[in-house]
Amino acid sequence: MGVNFREELDKAVATTYWEGEGEYNTKKEICNARFDLCPAVLAYCESATEVSDCIKIATKYGVDIRVRSGGHQHEGMCSANGVLVIDLSSMNQILDINEEKQEATIQAGKKLIEVYNELGDAGYVIPAGGCESVRPGGLVQGGGWGPWSRKLGLTCDNLISATLVDAQGDIKTISATEHKDLFWAIRGGGGGNFGVITEYVFTITKLPEHVMPFFSIYFGKDDLEKVLRGYIALMPELENELTTFCRVSIVDEDRPDRSTIMIGGQYFGTEEQAQKSVEKLRALGTPLSHNIEMVAPGEAHLLANGKVPLSVSGRSRSVITPQTFLFQLGNKEAPSSTCNGNPYPHKVSSTFPNPEPKHVYNDMLGVIIDQFQDKEEASTANLYLSIHSMGGAIADKHSDDTAFYFRDRHFILQYQAWWSDKDDPNGKDYVDWVIERRKELADYTSGSFINFVDREIPLSEYYGGNLTRLGRTRYDSHSAKVFDFEMSIPPIPPFDD
Ligand SMILES: Cc1cc2nc3c(=O)[nH]c(=O)nc-3n(C[C@H](O)[C@H](O)[C@H](O)COP(=O)(O)OP(=O)(O)OC[C@H]3O[C@@H](n4cnc5c(N)ncnc54)[C@H](O)[C@@H]3O)c2cc1C
Repeated sequence: MGVNFREELDKAVATTYWEGEGEYNTKKEICNARFDLCPAVLAYCESATEVSDCIKIATKYGVDIRVRSGGHQHEGMCSANGVLVIDLSSMNQILDINEEKQEATIQAGKKLIEVYNELGDAGYVIPAGGCESVRPGGLVQGGGWGPWSRKLGLTCDNLISATLVDAQGDIKTISATEHKDLFWAIRGGGGGNFGVITEYVFTITKLPEHVMPFFSIYFGKDDLEKVLRGYIALMPELENELTTFCRVSIVDEDRPDRSTIMIGGQYFGTEEQAQKSVEKLRALGTPLSHNIEMVAPGEAHLLANGKVPLSVSGRSRSVITPQTFLFQLGNKEAPSSTCNGNPYPHKVSSTFPNPEPKHVYNDMLGVIIDQFQDKEEASTANLYLSIHSMGGAIADKHSDDTAFYFRDRHFILQYQAWWSDKDDPNGKDYVDWVIERRKELADYTSGSFINFVDREIPLSEYYGGNLTRLGRTRYDSHSAKVFDFEMSIPPIPPFDD
């Protein structure tokens, strides 16, 4: 790597952390504590020019690059041993909210919680993820599923343009009219493949006038089959204002405050409208408890900020996001929160149920019920399946309108295992549990969501019919020469006619 590389990089970028020095050990941490990776240097860039210089200097000295905004890539591929990590977390401002054009310019390293808060203060929202510490940098490029997706689409569907630093270090604006292929590719093609994005311009949507309810309904194990089958049948029929997830967990119900199945979500509308739909979900079983929370105009962001007290079963707890408080119902040895920014070891894997033939859901649900009914709780982990609702505005686009392919699916299935100690001797069992449970659904499912990435799944599963165009875009943009990691998209040269 050499003295010259260091000298040039330190001259170009104000804040760097070199292996073994200063705060390096803290700065190198990523969200998944299963991976303890040691890059040679982390460059905390504060401008597109600094990013550009990093790319040029790394290329000159033959140093591999990884890109990181929030560090949430589930397989740790935003980092690696011996590389230069270009970190965008210092580029964390909303640069502009233009009410006339209904647009906001947001830097790649802005935490979602801050995006929600600041846009919420101005009376606007973008549909993004359900976890506060995730950053748009990676989220958008994988598509981005979140609380308002059925109403407003995936995060990437709300993108107007982006500023991208390419493999040569050139800074360019990409949009539907400029560098169209790149703009198409970054909307679902997965982060780290096409360049370094420093900022995004999004369409913003006015928050509903009166309320933005968040709700959660908890059911016990006797209701598992009834509620699960009811949820899968009902959800696609409900209005787009409602985006939900259903979590099925392995929990020990002999201990109080455990719930085998819960449905949570957010309604983009008034309390009255929300109550009607939530009542349909409540009626799927006999709830152990439920909650529907209303907030005043412009305060919806408080739900995501832990400031609104939520009463569940007569107890008060604070809300952060759906995923966050879900953990409080699980194994007390495991992390109490997915979303508080602390790194925890975990494994996820995802797939989409096939939309046809009709009996697919019935047969698939039989397998899922067997996976969870009366199973023994893990001693140190939370093991569960999240079923995220799709449809609505997500399905308004075609599978090749953006690089996110699976527009016709009604749900994303995500198996998850979270535990607290990276040296936990059961860690491998938890990883295997996730992998095996997804494989058991192979007859009924296809594809996988790149944001819920699992290295065991071949790349073709993530991109379906869009893989070839993504490969061509990688080739044409020369990005593969510089942005190359274990699961990057292989470049495809043009056909020889
Ligand atoms: C706790 C948790 C909750 C999550 N919740 C959701 C959710 O609700 N919805 C959802 O869709 N996903 C969710 N995810 C998945 C998450 O969206 C993806 O992991 C996403 O890629 C994270 O982006 P990041 O910038 O935070 O992470 P990073 O690890 O920094 O980035 C992820 C990928 O994108 C690349 N990348 C990052 N920044 C840039 C950039 N500026 N330019 C180019 N490439 C870049 C990285 O190299 C890496 O390959 C969650 C993940 C976790 C760990």
